[in-house]
Amino acid sequence: MSNFNHIETALIHGGIDGDAQTGAVNVPIYQTSTYRQAGLGENTGWEYSRTGNPTRAALEALIAELEGGTAGFAFASGMAATSTVLSLFNKGDRIIISSNVYGGTFRVLDKVFKNFGISYSIEDTTDLESLDKKIAPDVKALFVESPANPLLTVTDLAGVAAIAKKHGILTIVDNTFMTPYLQRPLELGADIVVHSATKYLGGHSDLVAGLAVVKDKGLAERLAFTQNATGAVLGPFDSFLLIRGIKTLGVRLDRHVENAERIARYLQNHEAVKNVYYPGLSTAQGYEINKRQAKNGGAMISFELHEGYDIKKFFKSLHLISLAESLGGVESLVCHPATMTHASIPKDIREKVGITDGLIRLSVGIEKVDDLITDLNAAIVAATPAARN
Ligand SMILES: *Cc1c(COP(=O)(O)O)cnc(C)c1O
Repeated sequence: MSNFNHIETALIHGGIDGDAQTGAVNVPIYQTSTYRQAGLGENTGWEYSRTGNPTRAALEALIAELEGGTAGFAFASGMAATSTVLSLFNKGDRIIISSNVYGGTFRVLDKVFKNFGISYSIEDTTDLESLDKKIAPDVKALFVESPANPLLTVTDLAGVAAIAKKHGILTIVDNTFMTPYLQRPLELGADIVVHSATKYLGGHSDLVAGLAVVKDKGLAERLAFTQNATGAVLGPFDSFLLIRGIKTLGVRLDRHVENAERIARYLQNHEAVKNVYYPGLSTAQGYEINKRQAKNGGAMISFELHEGYDIKKFFKSLHLISLAESLGGVESLVCHPATMTHASIPKDIREKVGITDGLIRLSVGIEKVDDLITDLNAAIVAATPAARN
């Protein structure tokens, strides 16, 4: 659906390319809330920046083109994008979410939308046969992620979308971990794609933003109305930063993934490592499905050290790789899902779904991979039980 044959080029020239008025190669930052009207009922097409702003519009056109949709929408955060999409539903509607959906998506459904009469249920979306049977008349959408946090669980997106279509309901995909450079859910049959653009799309850990893209014109009109009505829009400066980040998405991700593939193999062969979760390894759950629907395994890796390794020492002994929430920036980050991203889940449930106290999540950056491996190696050595030293 893009005007370009190759996404690498669309990343740089897609949407609105530069400024027609001056020839500036970058879209200007229209830092304005309002627009002068020549007379009553005579405007330039721009009236008020919650409704529309040229810098934000350029970003929205760009993400729509990259995802192969008809309309894009930019929000103040990934959660603002998700919440606005969820606002399309009505009292009495139910949404099925996958069991490993982003914690914030679960929280907003459980603590906010539930109070407005929009309910949810949690299902294992990797099991299509069972998912199909769970769709009662009140279910109006399936909300999935692939690969999903923190075990990089792969869901068959085309399979899920086909089930939704059969029942006349919507498929919503959170494509944060892959981005349109690696995976395009609308082309696989999904209706709505949401992003935390805070992650790979921005790519430099310097902004918080969200995006949504739809294919259907009617859905686009409803989402445009809801975006303006609820108002969680992205500002002009952050829109500019995000356009700037997206230009280098291709080269960044090529390096992210190259590094991740090397590190996944390094971890897989390390005697200290019990499990490696990375969709790019042929031994991974959903490897074949991921290969079919995405360009590669992405750059998020989770792994588990054997019992006895001192996880606190491991984190303390990393020098290059920072312990931090978030992911997708040029710098490598690690986190401890059990006490950070998934701390709100009771321990017994956590352990059952594989989020053990020894689990480590790594967002592989674009540093020289040898330096990353040196850092990981030193931290593993420092964490080794005394008996093995
Ligand atoms: C971070 C994240 C979100 C939420 O995005 P924010 O920009 O932090 O609001 C949603 N989904 C996934 C998969 C994420 O990683």
